[in-house]
Amino acid sequence: MQARTCILAALTLSTLAGAVQAASAADEVVVYTSRIDELIKPVFDAYTAKTGVPVKFITDKEAPLMARIKAEGANTPADMLITVDAGNLWQAEQMGILQPLESKVIAANIPPQYRSSTNSWVGLSLRARTIVYSTDRVKPQELSTYEALADENWEGRLCLRTSKKVYNQSLTATLIETHGAAKTEQLIKGWVNNLATDVFSDDTALIQAIDAGQCDVGIVNTYYYGRLHQQEPDLKAKLFWPNQEGRGVHVNLAGAGITQHAPHAEAAQKLLEWMTGAEAQGLFAGLNQEFPANPAIAPSAEVAAWGSFKADSIPVEVAGKRQAEAIMLMDRAGWR
Ligand code: FE
Repeated sequence: MQARTCILAALTLSTLAGAVQAASAADEVVVYTSRIDELIKPVFDAYTAKTGVPVKFITDKEAPLMARIKAEGANTPADMLITVDAGNLWQAEQMGILQPLESKVIAANIPPQYRSSTNSWVGLSLRARTIVYSTDRVKPQELSTYEALADENWEGRLCLRTSKKVYNQSLTATLIETHGAAKTEQLIKGWVNNLATDVFSDDTALIQAIDAGQCDVGIVNTYYYGRLHQQEPDLKAKLFWPNQEGRGVHVNLAGAGITQHAPHAEAAQKLLEWMTGAEAQGLFAGLNQEFPANPAIAPSAEVAAWGSFKADSIPVEVAGKRQAEAIMLMDRAGWR
């Protein structure tokens, strides 16, 4: 009798172990992310620690990741794509590699302007693309709007990053949405006329050029300023929030979507929902000195120190919808 109980107990245990194993294989989530290891692994580790669900991920640039999901088709191991810029997420949506997601949790956590109108992707953190100025040569009172950087008094004083970067394409797309193409082209010609030097390949080099006296003003993503300022506290450059009397500062995002053929769509949705909530938002944004996309969550102390600002409420999806138009317009205006 006793031996039988033991065998039964052992059988029950092994069945249970099998069931647990099956559950975790079914629940694992595979992520393709253009957000680098250091900026994403702590978030996944926190989720696994809380739920026991393993999160596997690979990192690469957004274009190869998106092409890979497309090529893998129905056989893709990827459940989720994480990348930056609404322009890129919109492209992924157009490629048909993301599936629409009905989630009350996400709808409650993230404002609609930071989500796709088809619910194919959702913003997780926000970055402003704003004005940076030399504290040696510019008084903040001299600054007002993005548009005013086309004025004559900035001639030979402006630095810009290349128009090849999606961040500038997205900024231009929202300008077209606001002003129309003709006025935006004039404005960008004004910026190009005011350039102090060739365009930069990255935002960090641009801020360093301002610090070094090569130019007086520029336009950059806030987290590049944050990173550089952390390394060089004596940086002779500061952030300025333009268009505060009008539409507000241009804001873009890092975000995610569930792939069209996700093998673990349900588990991926749970992870994504968690990433929009209180536990994950501060961590996700804080790792890259960004603002949480969930407005109920405060930014880190470092980010909060830049001061609060009014953000443009335009749906960021516009960055994708007008991307092709923006690229052609920038080219016509001579923005290299
Ligand atoms: Fe970036």
